[in-house]
Amino acid sequence: VTARRSTSRGYPPFVIDGKAVSNDRLDRARDEAGELAKKGIVPGLATVLVGENPASRVYVAAKSRAAKACGFHSEQFELSSEIQESELLALILRLNEDPLIHGILVQLPLPPAINPTKIMASIAPHKDVDGFHPINVWLAASGDMSRALLPCTPAGAMILIDKACVELETHLSGKSAVIIGRSSIVGRPMANLLLARDCTVTIAHSKSRNLPDIVRGAAVIVAAVGQPEMVRGDWIAPGAIVIDVGINRLPATGQNRGEGSESRLVGDVDFATASLVAGAITPVPGGVGPMTIAMLMTNTLIAACRANSVAEPMM
Ligand code: NAD
Repeated sequence: VTARRSTSRGYPPFVIDGKAVSNDRLDRARDEAGELAKKGIVPGLATVLVGENPASRVYVAAKSRAAKACGFHSEQFELSSEIQESELLALILRLNEDPLIHGILVQLPLPPAINPTKIMASIAPHKDVDGFHPINVWLAASGDMSRALLPCTPAGAMILIDKACVELETHLSGKSAVIIGRSSIVGRPMANLLLARDCTVTIAHSKSRNLPDIVRGAAVIVAAVGQPEMVRGDWIAPGAIVIDVGINRLPATGQNRGEGSESRLVGDVDFATASLVAGAITPVPGGVGPMTIAMLMTNTLIAACRANSVAEPMM
């Protein structure tokens, strides 16, 4: 992790290198898989892609590649967007029974004719490596993190917050945390994770009033909005930990226009102004994004250990 120690909890901030943290976790997942192999256990991940969404295809391919690189058994299923919901349910029920498969990932979004809530609920909770099954949601909401499988993006963001706390020589207990965004994929599970760490948690959303004032009161800020560079430096308390979950693709401007680059990625935080005041901050790209796949591998490893009554690795 490239670290610049922040002496005054202000400029320059600790830029949290999510790519390095992710690579470290993937290495450890591969090592742990090697230990499990000595016991005759090979973690197995099944990915299911329905339809032709190009971004989904890229994500699923990356997940399968990471599983293979970690030494896992990996199976990919590609289904037409025309399939009936019942066909997808039948595949999931088969994977639920398959002893070679410990984790099932159905890539979202699904075609409009298929009910995602029903699909998520059909995955066996102990194979639900996305952490979206109602039982896993309930375990996380009730603070029972050790038995839940946790959603990958917020779990990855939490690890980056812990990195920042170590770097800034601080701790989370009692701190105020503001999450911007209340989706069931990021905002709400993030709130559960921070609550379990004894933060005082506020969830802000599109109907919140005086958002900059709410954010100014926070020692930890998690932006999961989908609005390019919305959170500006003057919203941020000096020294705050700023975690940017947003991934927004904007048209290329200036120098890189016309040089083969047609777009650029930005987060929900305006990095240029936020990094002048934050104590620690994630970049986009290279912050939270790479953590999602690493946490998926961690969840698959955990699921394989639980299925075989083997102690879970300390990761
Ligand atoms: P979503 O659209 O489901 O939810 C967005 C939330 O932001 C909503 O709760 C809404 O109330 C809130 N919001 C919208 N406009 C707002 C405003 N002006 N002020 C305050 N709140 C506002 O999005 P999501 O799935 O939670 O994703 C959020 C962002 O995170 C997106 O940019 C997405 O691409 C990104 N994301 C990244 C990863 C990853 O890094 N692997 C994973 C999931 C999502």
